[in-house]
Amino acid sequence: MALANQFSGPLTAGNRKHVVVVGAGIVGASTAWHLAKKGFAVTIVDREPESAIADGASGGNAGLLSIGHYPLTRPGASWRGMKWMLSRTAPLYIKPRLDRELVSWLWNFHLHCNQRYLDRCMEVLGAMGWQTLDVLEGMIEQERIACDYARDGWLDVVLKPENMAHAEAEAKSLEKYGYRWERIEGDALRRRDPCFTGAVAGAIHMKDSAHCAPSDLIAGLVGALPRHGVKVRFDAGVRGFRKTRSGAITAVELENGETLMADVVVLAAGVWSDPLGRLAGVKIPMQGARGYHLQFDVPEIDPPAVASTGMVLHESFVAVTPMMRAGKRQLRIAGTLEIGPLGQPWMPERLGMLLKGSAPYLNGVDRMKPAGEWAGYRPCTSDGLPAVGAVKSSPGLFVATGHAMMGMTLGPVTGKVVAEMIAGEKPCFDASMLNPNRFN
Ligand SMILES: Cc1cc2nc3c(=O)[nH]c(=O)nc-3n(C[C@H](O)[C@H](O)[C@H](O)COP(=O)(O)OP(=O)(O)OC[C@H]3O[C@@H](n4cnc5c(N)ncnc54)[C@H](O)[C@@H]3O)c2cc1C
Repeated sequence: MALANQFSGPLTAGNRKHVVVVGAGIVGASTAWHLAKKGFAVTIVDREPESAIADGASGGNAGLLSIGHYPLTRPGASWRGMKWMLSRTAPLYIKPRLDRELVSWLWNFHLHCNQRYLDRCMEVLGAMGWQTLDVLEGMIEQERIACDYARDGWLDVVLKPENMAHAEAEAKSLEKYGYRWERIEGDALRRRDPCFTGAVAGAIHMKDSAHCAPSDLIAGLVGALPRHGVKVRFDAGVRGFRKTRSGAITAVELENGETLMADVVVLAAGVWSDPLGRLAGVKIPMQGARGYHLQFDVPEIDPPAVASTGMVLHESFVAVTPMMRAGKRQLRIAGTLEIGPLGQPWMPERLGMLLKGSAPYLNGVDRMKPAGEWAGYRPCTSDGLPAVGAVKSSPGLFVATGHAMMGMTLGPVTGKVVAEMIAGEKPCFDASMLNPNRFN
């Protein structure tokens, strides 16, 4: 934030500051969009080719825009994680390894799993959540992005009757942050959506959220950037940064040997922001929590296999999202959290957990053949909150990452707030808890 005033004032063709945004996921794309709207000269670089831009986390996620979602750091989460961590088929699997970074991440995570900290997190996540859908709807409307967006909430679908009370208590605990919910009993749920099996006890409908087809959203948003003058560079991996002796950032170095001069650099490279940040002199300790999805073309079966709303299956932690893509009804089943080194081979048993985890809830799902499989990484900080803001030790460097399982939801408003910080404007919410210097 110390930098902000340096860039305030009207931007004319002659004094337009050049911002390079690293990473064209939802966070980077939203940042570039908001910066361009404010008159900055913007280049966004991504190491992937254009054809693969929807294959990252911002395209492959479950597409639940679930405002009011708790962060990973909740009371009891570290103990539950420890119980699960060595089982290859538990919702959370941590690949055992002797790694100082992992041990320190786990310890810090454990220290943050308490109610007092959760309450503080929810203040900032609430402030972001209440704004992000409006920001996203503005982008979708202005750019006419067809991504099957619907602000229809999400369902916490419960199989076992004895778990309804737990689901209800969780929903109730969100009331103090303003989130609305409704309990739906099994029969009423089946009348509303015949896709649910007779074994489902009921659901909690969290009313304030939305869902979309995320691959179409990210492709549409990145595709819209050139219309606002943003230079979009695909196949442009960043391998380093240039700095002055005092540490101010002056340029981004690409893997192809090119150098892009920059007044400001925004690091929005998802889980790769950690190794890249270290090259630029900032530490944002993150673990990549890999998840998988299966994509289905939905056959015309009776009763239909698809609900009208996105949902999370309470006992298996699997997310199921209906989505219309290119006029075809599809279903995405996504989930599992697997913490291990980046780039390891997929674990097929974890992909299998997705179907196994949804068959008891959804009619006919076991009769469908997946048309596609995918894996990608959630960028997870050890304290459960994103890292967003100016880097103290490197004037000109901003960070926007670490949204874990909430990046699709909170990415749009993150882009807005980063653009406001760079322009020296009052941020649309108090982002002091997200200060990226907190890890150094
Ligand atoms: C299975 C699963 C389900 C999920 N479901 C949901 C959900 O329902 N709702 C929700 O809100 N969130 C969900 N998430 C989380 C969400 O997908 C992420 O938090 C979010 O997509 C992160 O966005 P990002 O822009 O920070 O990173 P990314 O989307 O990972 O984008 C980073 C970009 O940086 C680029 N990059 C990396 N290194 C370099 C380099 N050296 N040079 C140039 N470019 C580089 C990458 O190619 C990539 O395009 C889910 C995640 C998973 C895995």
